[in-house]
Amino acid sequence: RRVIVTIDGPAGAGKSSIAKRLAGRLDLLYLESGAFYRAVALMAVRQPQFLRNSQGLEDFLATFQLQVVSKNEGFRLFVAGQDITAGIRDPEVSRIASQVATLRPVRQWVHDRLRQIAGSGGVIAEGRDMGTKVFPEAEVKIFLDASLEVRAHRRWLELQNQGNTLRENAILEDIAQRDRRDRERVEDPLSMPPGAHYIDSTAYDLKRVEDI
Ligand code: C5P
Repeated sequence: RRVIVTIDGPAGAGKSSIAKRLAGRLDLLYLESGAFYRAVALMAVRQPQFLRNSQGLEDFLATFQLQVVSKNEGFRLFVAGQDITAGIRDPEVSRIASQVATLRPVRQWVHDRLRQIAGSGGVIAEGRDMGTKVFPEAEVKIFLDASLEVRAHRRWLELQNQGNTLRENAILEDIAQRDRRDRERVEDPLSMPPGAHYIDSTAYDLKRVEDI
């Protein structure tokens, strides 16, 4: 049976961590939609010319080959044989990702890719519009939330573990801005899917959220 679980919510709410754990536990393929937007953003950083006009964007997306290789509870992404898994986590790429995510052709491309990958088996899909737009037919929908401060603190800890020394304040500003952009988007604004389970993880650790 083709089971689909969706987890939506704002940046830094802990969606990826939970999705990864549940994927392992339920033997589902983990689909992180943000990574697809990030991959497009990384390409935009490397080859800014394709964003110059809409034809350039269409042409780029029509030929963009993103390889998704699932690995244990996670996955790795490749473009033309090059591993971009780490590169897409760069703070600059995060910023650009929330900008390219406002472009309709980019959203369409990501949606098509996600549905295509999900076509053959059970997935746990995580993002901003998985339960509302991409997989409205999902069996289980979760909306994971947390306060802005807690989300910024978690992101700060995560980046610090990767050796990044950004100030917590700067990260908070960054996330607040991405929230605004995600909410104000004309198409697919960040919203709770009908029938979704709402979980506020502000005061919870990972184990607690997984058990809920
Ligand atoms: O989830 P993550 O922070 O990695 O996503 C990067 C950016 O991609 C977000 O800031 C958001 O603007 C965009 N995004 C989106 N829809 C999704 C997932 C991510 O617009 N389903």
